[in-house]
Amino acid sequence: PTGSTVAELAELLGVPASDIVKRLFLLGNPLTLTQSMSDELIELVADDLGREVKVMTKEEENSFTFYDDPADLLPRAPVVTVMGHVDHGKTSLLDAIRHTGVAEGEAGGITQAIGASQVKIGDRTITFIDTPGHETFTAMRARGAKVTDIVILIVAADDGVMPQTVESINHAKAAGVPIIVAVNKIDKPGANPDKVRQELTEYGIIPEEWGGQNMFVNISAKKKIGIDELLETVLLQADVLELKANPNTFASGNVLEAKLDRGRGSVATVLVTRGTLRIGDAIVAGMSYGRIRAMLDPKGRPVKEAKPSDPVEILGLQSVPAAGDEFRVFTEEREARSLAEQRALKARIEEQNRVKHVTLETLFSTM
Ligand code: GDP
Ligand code: MG
Repeated sequence: PTGSTVAELAELLGVPASDIVKRLFLLGNPLTLTQSMSDELIELVADDLGREVKVMTKEEENSFTFYDDPADLLPRAPVVTVMGHVDHGKTSLLDAIRHTGVAEGEAGGITQAIGASQVKIGDRTITFIDTPGHETFTAMRARGAKVTDIVILIVAADDGVMPQTVESINHAKAAGVPIIVAVNKIDKPGANPDKVRQELTEYGIIPEEWGGQNMFVNISAKKKIGIDELLETVLLQADVLELKANPNTFASGNVLEAKLDRGRGSVATVLVTRGTLRIGDAIVAGMSYGRIRAMLDPKGRPVKEAKPSDPVEILGLQSVPAAGDEFRVFTEEREARSLAEQRALKARIEEQNRVKHVTLETLFSTM
């Protein structure tokens, strides 16, 4: 980036800092390790070392907000996260939802390949993020990303509001995401759905039928009661939000989770939030870059492209990005690589600066 220091450039190029200091000296620009270099000087020294460097401004580097002409925006599927206290039924609900709308013969053979799923209701789709809600929110918020449109807050009717229920409410509120309450386990003796409604009013979650803003649905994830109604409610909430995105542009979005796979290398589940992601695209995700080699949909089937609100597993990144990292497509793999390397460099420098300060003594000892 603009304003990089001698030490940063040395790191980026993978050459001894003393080489750069010497070259700067020969070019008539004596600088120390911690001094910033002008854009021209960075490019000149890099060129001198036989390397091509393109200096980006901070804005260019950090810019992930893109402008779309309203005329280019098309409706997109809502992206939903299920949150709630442990054992209140998050996993059971996602299981129940995943089996909705699936043909009989297929029912037994569903394998959930990636950390997200999609369910079709008529001609509409809902995307569910399966990563535990708290982790998703913490990771995404740490990076200023918003990937969830709607939170389903699940509360067991026999247990009521518990600490992680309150935590979930706080996360959703901080992110400005509407909450639909699924009052679960209504099949259980002793279940008291109205008591849950009552308790939640203390946290500002008030049912529409009581004059509030929140939709409530009574369900049993185990007995599969109320699941269709819950999904209909999600679509109603989505209609209110008028969710849209431009599919006809270079893709960008967020990493939901990523890992290193022995056979396949870096494997990342990403959510496309804008544009269309295609095989062969050059992308940057956080500090990783690469070219998309293959993509799998939530059922593990190979796909050639992914549209806004589609989660896909991608292969082809050179390293493993972090959950919450933004990704975007570049026209040139070179640009992707350069941005990823600059970020990696920045992270290393920041890490080093935490550990030790570069002093004049350390500079002279390297010369
Ligand atoms: P999570 O920790 O929120 O993911 O909760 P789980 O989905 O793992 O559910 C915790 C326990 O509650 C499991 O034993 C489930 O079988 C049970 N459970 C979940 N939903 C229901 C329900 O609707 N009715 C009953 N009776 N049990 C449920
Ligand atoms: Mg669970």
